[in-house]
Amino acid sequence: MNSIYLTIFGLIFLILLVIVYFSKKRVNYIENKVYSFLIISSLIGTIIEVISYILVVNGINGNSLLYAIVMKLLFENFFIWMSLFLLYYILIALKAKEHNVKKIINIYIISVILITLIVTFLPLNVIDTNGMLLPKGPAVDILYLLYGLCFLIIIFILLKNLKNIRNKRYVPLIIILLVFSFVVVMQNINPEIILLSPSSAFVTFLMYFTIENPDVKMIEQLNVAREQADKANKAKTEFLSNMSHEIRTPLNAIVGFSNILLEDEDVPEKSKDEIKDIVMASDNLLEIVNGILDISKIEANKIEIVNNEYSIKKVLDDLVALTKGRIAEKPLEFKVNIDETIPPVLYGDSQRIKQICVNILTNAVKYTKEGWIELKVSHIKIDNICRLIISVEDTGIGIKEGNIDKLFDKFERLDLNDNVTIEGTGLGLAITKKLVDLMGGKIVVQSVFGKGSRFTVSLDQRIVENPTIALDDIPETKSEEIKVEGKKVLIVDDNKINIKVAERLLDNYSVLHDSVESGLDCINKIKEGNKYDLILMDDMMPKMSGTEAFHELEKIPGFNVPVIALTANALTGMKEKYLSEGFSDYLAKPINKDELNRIINTFLNQE
Ligand code: ADP
Repeated sequence: MNSIYLTIFGLIFLILLVIVYFSKKRVNYIENKVYSFLIISSLIGTIIEVISYILVVNGINGNSLLYAIVMKLLFENFFIWMSLFLLYYILIALKAKEHNVKKIINIYIISVILITLIVTFLPLNVIDTNGMLLPKGPAVDILYLLYGLCFLIIIFILLKNLKNIRNKRYVPLIIILLVFSFVVVMQNINPEIILLSPSSAFVTFLMYFTIENPDVKMIEQLNVAREQADKANKAKTEFLSNMSHEIRTPLNAIVGFSNILLEDEDVPEKSKDEIKDIVMASDNLLEIVNGILDISKIEANKIEIVNNEYSIKKVLDDLVALTKGRIAEKPLEFKVNIDETIPPVLYGDSQRIKQICVNILTNAVKYTKEGWIELKVSHIKIDNICRLIISVEDTGIGIKEGNIDKLFDKFERLDLNDNVTIEGTGLGLAITKKLVDLMGGKIVVQSVFGKGSRFTVSLDQRIVENPTIALDDIPETKSEEIKVEGKKVLIVDDNKINIKVAERLLDNYSVLHDSVESGLDCINKIKEGNKYDLILMDDMMPKMSGTEAFHELEKIPGFNVPVIALTANALTGMKEKYLSEGFSDYLAKPINKDELNRIINTFLNQE
C-alpha cells in the first residue's frame, strides 16, 4: 500500500498545477480547453484513489459495494483522462490540416459518454485474495481493452511522426508509453498496487512543461497575430498601389484634356479660368494620392533610396521655380540664399531630396499669410562628404511648443480649427521625416507660435569629383520651336481615352502618330515593317505588360527605336526602375506638358 505516497505527491503537484494553470491568462485554443479538462480529470482520479485508500485502511470488506463503486469511478475516470490525452494530440494534428474540428469533438463526446454508460452498467466485483482487494469483472476487462487500444493509437501516432520525434510536443507521448509499460509490469508483479493516478498526474504535469505552457502558447499566438497583421498590411499596400493606378488613369484624361483646352484659342477666356481650377484641383488630388502611396510604401519598408550623380543647382532651381509657382498671387516675399561654393555634382537621391524640400516649402507657403519665406542652403565639407544644410524659414502662423513633437505623426494636423481653410492631409511631414531618416539625415524644427517657423534639414552627400553627367542645362524649348516634321510616334495603351489624350498632346508638335491597344499589336506593327521614330509604351496592360513587350521588341533584329515607359504608377524611384530595364526614358501619367516637351526635344528634334 506504499503507492499511496505517490498518489499523495501526485495530488499535491496537481493542486499546484491547477493554481498555476488557471491563474494564468490563457489563449483560447480548443486544445487548451481539452488540457483544462485533462488536469481536472487527473485531479479527480487522484482524489478517488486517496478515497479508495482511506476505505481500505478503515477495513472495508472486499465485497463492499462502496469500494466497487469507487474502483469503477477510478477506472472510468482514467479512461476519460486517456481519451482526452489522445483528443489533445488528434486536435493538434487536425489543426495543421484545418479539418472540421467541431465534428470530431462531437463524435468524441458521444463515444465517450456511450462507453462510460456501458461500463457503468457492467458488473465489477472486488475480490479479496489473501487480504488483497482486486477489482475484477466485465467492466474492468472492457476498460483494460480500451486502455490497450489507446496504447496502440499512441504507438501509431509516434510511428507516423517518427521524422519529427525530436520535437518536444512528442515527449509526453513517449513518456506515457514508458509509464504505461512500467505500470503494466508493476501491476503484474504486485496486483494490489494501483498506479493509474500518479502516472496520469505525472504525464499531465509533463505536458505543462513541454507543450501546454500558457506563456509559450501566448507567444505562439502573438506570432500568428503578427503574421496576420503583416499580411493585412501587405494587402493594404497592394490595394493602395492599385487604387493609385486606377485614380491616375482617369486623372490623366482630366489633366490632359484641361491642358489642351487651356491652349485652345477657340475656348473663351472666361472658361479658361475654370479650366485652370480643374487643373489645380487635379494636381491637388494627384498630390494626395502620391502621399498616401508614399507613406504606405515607407511603412511596408518598400521605399528604396536610389543614389545617382546629380546637379545640386538643377535641383535647387527646380525648387525655386516650383515655390514661386505656389506663392503665385500671395503677398509673400520669397528670399533665396544659396551658398555658391557647394560642390556642383553630388551623389545621392536627388528625387527624394527634392520631395523633402517641396514638402517643407509647400508648408511654408501654405501656413504663411503674409511676410516672407526664405530658402537658405549652405554646406560643410568633411573630406569627400558635403553636408547640405537646407533651411526654410517663414513668418507664418507658427507652431505651439507642445505641438512640435506631434508634427511628424502621420495624419496629424495641428490647430485644425484655425486651419480649416488650408488644404492638407497631414502626411507631408510624416513622409519627410521618414525620408530624412532613411537617408541618415536630421530634421530640426524651431518655431514661435504666431511669429513663424524654421525647418532645417541636414543631409550628407558624397562629392563627385569627376562627374559623368552633363552640368549644362539644356535650355527649355517651346513646342513650336521643335522641328519634328515627318517624325512618327507609336502610342501603345490599353485605354482608349489615354490614347486620345496622348494624340491631342502630340498634335501640338505636328508629328505623325499611330496607336495600338496592346503590347502584342505593337510587336506585330514593328515585325510588319512599320517604321517609327519613338514609341510611348504604357506599362500596366493586361496579358502583356509594357516592360514585357519592350523586351520582346529588343529581340527583333535591327530594332533601335527609343521606347519611353508610360505609367500611372508614378512613384518616386520609378524612373530609375524603367531606365534600368533599358527604356530610353520615362513619362508619368498624367502626362506633364513640360516633360513631354523634354522627351520630344530629346528624341525627335531634328536640330
Ligand atoms: P499638411 O498636409 O496638413 O500640411 P504636414 O504633415 O505637411 O501636413 O504638416 C502637418 C501639420 O504641421 C500641418 O497641418 C500644420 O498644422 C503644421 N505645419 C507644418 N508646417 C508648418 C509651418 N511652416 N508653419 C506652421 N505650421 C506648420
